[in-house]
Amino acid sequence: RSFADLALEPELARALERAGYDAPTAVQAQVLPISLSGRDVIGIAQTGSGKTAAFLLPACVHASARKRADEAAGGQSEEGGGRGEGGGCDGVCAADADARAAERASGTDGTDTAVGGARAPAAPSGARAGAAAPFALVLAPTRELAEQIHAEARKLARPLGLAAAALFGGVGKWEQLKAVRTGGGAHVLIATPGRAIDVLKKGAVCARRVGLAVVDEADRLFAMGFEAQLRSILGQLRPDRQTLLFSATFRPSLEALARAALREPVRVVV
Ligand code: AMP
Repeated sequence: RSFADLALEPELARALERAGYDAPTAVQAQVLPISLSGRDVIGIAQTGSGKTAAFLLPACVHASARKRADEAAGGQSEEGGGRGEGGGCDGVCAADADARAAERASGTDGTDTAVGGARAPAAPSGARAGAAAPFALVLAPTRELAEQIHAEARKLARPLGLAAAALFGGVGKWEQLKAVRTGGGAHVLIATPGRAIDVLKKGAVCARRVGLAVVDEADRLFAMGFEAQLRSILGQLRPDRQTLLFSATFRPSLEALARAALREPVRVVV
């Protein structure tokens, strides 16, 4: 198998070449044809197997297609992502638009980085104006892993004109969000669950446009007690999204999450 079999965009193929990825690893060879076809995947694979690219490639392909659709529609379209079924997103981000209306009404400009900015009273996700609205969301257990994924995501996202960003605890939230904004947004967002819950609750990130979600190192996320947070975050995403779940081991506790959050997943054990 080779990456050429996957008929990737030329920019992405070149980015892989530049990263020194000559041929897919075993997990990539097995997962990519399935994940790129839009299906949900449960991947049982160890760190070092190349699993990161196995989920980042479909994340970038998805985000790139959504961004193009958005641009073709003059920046207003929400469709063209997910797997049909209407999607449920109307406007740039319905919550975002509501927030802008609330802003106009209250006379604020929404450029503040503090908590007390304009809120959308009727916004379903409570997103603020200027909220990051990623097309793909990757959840990882630790800051260290989130940073590693972010580094790899940048290599793949940039050549496609996409911005990748990471949010994790231990660093000032508003500084991180400001960096996201000045870095051109976050088409692909990588986050630890605690920080993800926080920014969603504050409306600093809008979950409504996420058409592809990744849960990385699910067994570690469970061992660290993030199960409830995971369920909460996944529950805020559009139901027609694609979900890719990776874990080094498959435990019964994962089965329950997979049943709740994935749709007819293909299981791949490497
Ligand atoms: P991961 O298991 O995702 O943490 O990846 C382990 C290491 O393998 C990382 O340093 C990647 O940059 C590298 N890698 C991933 N895929 C490939 C590939 N197809 N060819 C060469 N190196 C790769």
